[in-house]
This record gives sequence, C-alpha cells and structure tokens, in this order.
Amino acid sequence: MQTNKIHKHEITVSGTRWLFALSTITAWSFATLLLAHASTLGAILAGPLYTIPLISLGEWLVHGVMYHGRIPGLKFIRDIHHAGHHFALFPPKNYVQHGKYEFMRFRKPLVPFQMSDNALDNWLTEWSQIGLHFVVGIPLILAPAWLLTHSLPFFVSTLVTLGFVSWLLAYVHGVIHTPADRAIEHLRWFQWLDRHHYIHHIDLSANINFLLPICDLLFGTQKAVLTDEEAAANPSFEEAKPQAKDIPRKPELVAA
Ligand SMILES: [Zn+2]
Ligand SMILES: [Zn+2]
Repeated sequence: MQTNKIHKHEITVSGTRWLFALSTITAWSFATLLLAHASTLGAILAGPLYTIPLISLGEWLVHGVMYHGRIPGLKFIRDIHHAGHHFALFPPKNYVQHGKYEFMRFRKPLVPFQMSDNALDNWLTEWSQIGLHFVVGIPLILAPAWLLTHSLPFFVSTLVTLGFVSWLLAYVHGVIHTPADRAIEHLRWFQWLDRHHYIHHIDLSANINFLLPICDLLFGTQKAVLTDEEAAANPSFEEAKPQAKDIPRKPELVAA
C-alpha cells in the first residue's frame, strides 16, 4: 500500500567532498576569467560560462542550507519551504495543484499553508524567490566578476545571466507543480527536471539543485532513481503527475 512517505534524512556532504566541489568550481571560474580577459567577445561569452556553475552553487546553498537546513533567525524560510511547500502543499501524493496561481501564499498568516488566491500574493512569492537567488548572487558572482576583471562587457553578461536564471528557476518550479499545457511543459529538459524534482519531493536529501544539477553532481546529492522502498511507499511519477507531457497517451484517448 502506498503510504506517501517523505524521507526526511539530512543532507550529508563530507569535508572532502566540499573541498572537491568548491575547488572544481573555483578552478572552472578562474578559467572562464581568462576568456573574459581575452577580448570583448570572449568577455560576453565568458559571462554565462562563469555564472552558471556559480548559480548552481547558489541555488544548492539556498535550497539545501536555507530552505531545508536550520539557520538561526531564518526559521520562517524553512517553515515556508520545508513544512509549507513539501509537507502541506506538495507531498508526493499531491505533487500538483490546479488553482489559478503557481505560487503559495507567503504572507502572514502562513498557517494553514495555502496556494495564492490572488495575483498580488502570487507575485510576492515568485519575486521574493527570484530576489533571494539574485541577492545571493551579488557577493557570490557579481562582486568577484567586477573586482577580478573590471570588464564592463563581462560584468553585464554575468548580470544578465544571473537575472535571467534567477527568474527561470522560480518560474520553472512554479510551472512544474501547476501543469497547464504551457509550451515549456513539452520541452525535454523541463520533463527531465520534473522527474528529477519529484525524487526530491520523496527524498529531501537528494536533488537539491532545482534547475542546474551541476552541484548535485559535485556534492554527490544527485539521485537518478528512487530506492525500492521509496518507490513502494509513494506514488510513481506517472501517478503523481498524469498531466506530464512525456507520459505516452493511451491511443484511444488520443483518437477521441
Ligand atoms: Zn517543489
Ligand atoms: Zn525542497
């Protein structure tokens, strides 16, 4: 029988693995800075190459440490994501919602947790997520980009990349949980992320990256399949989200 079991184990990364992950990203970042110094075109191209792995680090830290960890003074953020998003609104047996809006209500009163029922609440939650990832990117990405190169084309390229990916991250997560036959839902990478994220909704210690799984690979938190025990205790992805576009439709339904 499916009991809808969310695994609550803590994210564990060894000291050696931290060292490996951070030194890999640092080495990559310095290599892209060489390209940034080469020419104006090099600087523009180096922007996303430098920024994307660092945003992956930013989203891994925001999601793994801020949303699921216990940081003094930031309990409300953990409550919203861990208790609200995972346990109240989107447990595996209820992985999708069908209301008008993509994001939960984030203003007080938080409890009982509920989806936004108006455009303002939806906007506030979406843009606070975008803003949080952007703000984390200021010391992590933008400040070193400028201080280490003083290249305006490189800086603008990193700024545009950070802004766009911060938005995309929040947008795609909202869409994943509120299927509505949007064009993006037909794209292969979206469908891959959807299944990747469903695993996170069952095992909270895995697939910490939502959009860019680079740091899941580096930190060893990438998980491609559920264990037999997890699979037996939870709905399959197909049961949890029958609207997913990569599930083959039954021929008689397609013909109808
Ligand atoms: Zn989610
Ligand atoms: Zn989560």
